[in-house]
Amino acid sequence: MIFSSKIRQAIEDPPIRDTRAQMAFYPSSASVKVIDPDLGVPTVIGSSSGCLRRQYYDITGVPPTNYGSAEGALKMQMGSLIQALFEDKLKKAGLWMDSEVKMWNPTYKISGRIDTWCWDPDALKRGDRVPLPIEFKSTGRFGEPGLITISKGKVLPKGEHVCQVMSYLDFYSQWPEWYHGHPMRIVIIAVSRDSLSWREHVVSLAGKGQYGAPIKEDERYAVVRNETGTYQLKHITMAGIYTRFMEVGAYLRQKTEPPRDFELQYSNERIKKMADKGLMSKTNANKVAASIKRDPKGTDRWLGKLDAPFGDWQCQYCSHRTKCWEGIDHTPKPLIRQEHPQVAQAKKAPIAEPLADL
Ligand code: SF4
Repeated sequence: MIFSSKIRQAIEDPPIRDTRAQMAFYPSSASVKVIDPDLGVPTVIGSSSGCLRRQYYDITGVPPTNYGSAEGALKMQMGSLIQALFEDKLKKAGLWMDSEVKMWNPTYKISGRIDTWCWDPDALKRGDRVPLPIEFKSTGRFGEPGLITISKGKVLPKGEHVCQVMSYLDFYSQWPEWYHGHPMRIVIIAVSRDSLSWREHVVSLAGKGQYGAPIKEDERYAVVRNETGTYQLKHITMAGIYTRFMEVGAYLRQKTEPPRDFELQYSNERIKKMADKGLMSKTNANKVAASIKRDPKGTDRWLGKLDAPFGDWQCQYCSHRTKCWEGIDHTPKPLIRQEHPQVAQAKKAPIAEPLADL
């Protein structure tokens, strides 16, 4: 093709790369560690940059070993274009205040940028002028049907996005006078990159506590409201988010690499549990069942490459993937099949001598 390779090269292998070490914690790295209610194992709600090890690498300036695809970079840029489209409409509606507003939280060393600040239309109806921030999150065809996750009948934004906006909520809640006696809110607008349909999720903080108070005394958690209902996410807490940032700080002071928060490939045991709990497609669950039937004791082997990579997506997208998993065999092995007796017999048969060169 004429331009494809050049375009791909310009995106995936640019001549100049930003190699500066990260100087602060980022809201997009906000995460919480919880017990997975289905599997009963500790799990982290956060993006790849929420992984303690990845943050350690980024802050200490470890050069990335993996760069994203051209498609991934273009998707990110699509997100910015979608934000610009929506801002244009908000400007026309007389609601837009500012874009890309920087935040510096000195207490927890968090540096971030809110996509857009607008005037709250509900407050304007009351004759009040109250600022209301918006974060735009673009999603692909998997997130589109419910914009965004549909889990057990609930429609919720991604957990990592809730964690991110909570960092903003806590910091800007310091000035209650801005909101004229109303609790501060942030709106996540999830937009489909395919159809451009969208859904609003309004996030606020509930529970006891305040910015800068001792983390142990902080009992605040996220509440999400959207057209499908109001959801109290008591497992996504301010204390949980700050504790994770503090943990990265402790590893940095000790100059010790944190353990991995995610898995590039799940163990057989975990894959089996996921199949038992209905946490995978029926096709994959059937493949797992067939594999176990063939090889009931195969707990020390991977169940193999099913339709999707059976590991955490965070590792798939991580720029330190190769370094992090160096020397560890994480490659999914093919399903172990019992050979047909005739094939096994044929393999034992003496190999014919090659014909001598004529
Ligand atoms: S590869 Fe996975 S475990 Fe390793 S740093 Fe990246 S996200 Fe963390």
